[in-house]
Amino acid sequence: MSQGRYGPPLLPPRPATDLEQDFWDHCSRRQLFFQRCDECERWRHPPRHMCAGCGSLAWSWIESGGRGRVYSWSLTHRPPHPSLAEAVPYASVIVELGEGIRLLSVVRDVAPEDLRLDLPVRVDFEEVKEGVVLPVFLASDAAEP
Ligand code: ZN
Repeated sequence: MSQGRYGPPLLPPRPATDLEQDFWDHCSRRQLFFQRCDECERWRHPPRHMCAGCGSLAWSWIESGGRGRVYSWSLTHRPPHPSLAEAVPYASVIVELGEGIRLLSVVRDVAPEDLRLDLPVRVDFEEVKEGVVLPVFLASDAAEP
């Protein structure tokens, strides 16, 4: 038996539904949009057809203000994949946006040891491969407009 490298190349995850594709299409235009129920105005993410609050099937894509606060984070010291060996230690951060939605992302300009709860952040975008743009966050002065 020969020794070698097995298995397919690893690829980024792809949207599973058309609604998820709509979210990522907005991101590819460097816009952060979420669904909001047309009946009770509850924001929701990830995208889905029915409001968990009132059961309505009516909703719209509304642009987020893009500002929020650090809600929580977790530090990774041991790379979960060889492609992340140079990235550790890194922080996976949950940001709570002004609309109440929480996103798992990163804060690019704050070292993991300098993260703190309620740190004000604003959205930015990174193209990780052609056509795939992810929302990331930067520290923000709360007094900024
Ligand atoms: Zn609703």
